[in-house]
Amino acid sequence: MSYREAIEEYKQLHGYEAMQLRAVLFDMDGVLFDSMPYHAAAWSQVMSDAGFTFSKEDVYMNEGRTGADTINTASLAQFGKPATQEQIDALCRAKCELFDTYPATPRMEGAIELVKKVKACGLTPMIVTGSGTPTLLDRIQSNFPRLFDENHIVTSFNVKRGKPYPDPYLLAMEKGGLKPHEAIVVENAPLGVTAGVAAGLFTVAVNTGPLKEKVLSDAGASIVFPSMQALRDEWERLHDALTR
Ligand code: CA
Repeated sequence: MSYREAIEEYKQLHGYEAMQLRAVLFDMDGVLFDSMPYHAAAWSQVMSDAGFTFSKEDVYMNEGRTGADTINTASLAQFGKPATQEQIDALCRAKCELFDTYPATPRMEGAIELVKKVKACGLTPMIVTGSGTPTLLDRIQSNFPRLFDENHIVTSFNVKRGKPYPDPYLLAMEKGGLKPHEAIVVENAPLGVTAGVAAGLFTVAVNTGPLKEKVLSDAGASIVFPSMQALRDEWERLHDALTR
């Protein structure tokens, strides 16, 4: 499907005459930062140590959920009961501690150029993440200096229900004063795509992990790019199709 066709399909489904693009809502891990290999290693290690069956691929399939939701979902599926708050706190702490022993995560290849292009088009770049590490805002500002306004960042601190619920994207729209057809979502994970689509937003996926592209289109992504570099390189064409 061409960009035009994907956009037409979205407009028809939601009853919009035209897109009126004002913002781009970026997911963070696996989109702006190449951090997923480390998250996958840390989660699968800590969960396995605690007696769960939890492969690295499981981490990618759960990506986007908050830490508490990830643990609860696995506990319900594998032990038939939700995790206790103590278990959740201990596992989240252990995961963060292990993650912090890894090297600092680099920016995703292509990410900073894409965000700069988005800004140069007069659009507002925003971040919508299920992550909630204390150093998150510092990491964003040091890796993407002056590109994201602090009021335009939604983290797991700001919402009760994380992705795949639409809540984080709905809050981002509220913060930005945006209607659904005034923004698009850039996600790399199936549950993140589900959240964007559930919020009524035109959602594109970048397949930066090990999953098959089909997982992302099945989750509802209107367009799937093979990488962030690909989206960066295609941005002018996509923007043209969105604003025509
Ligand atoms: Ca992600």
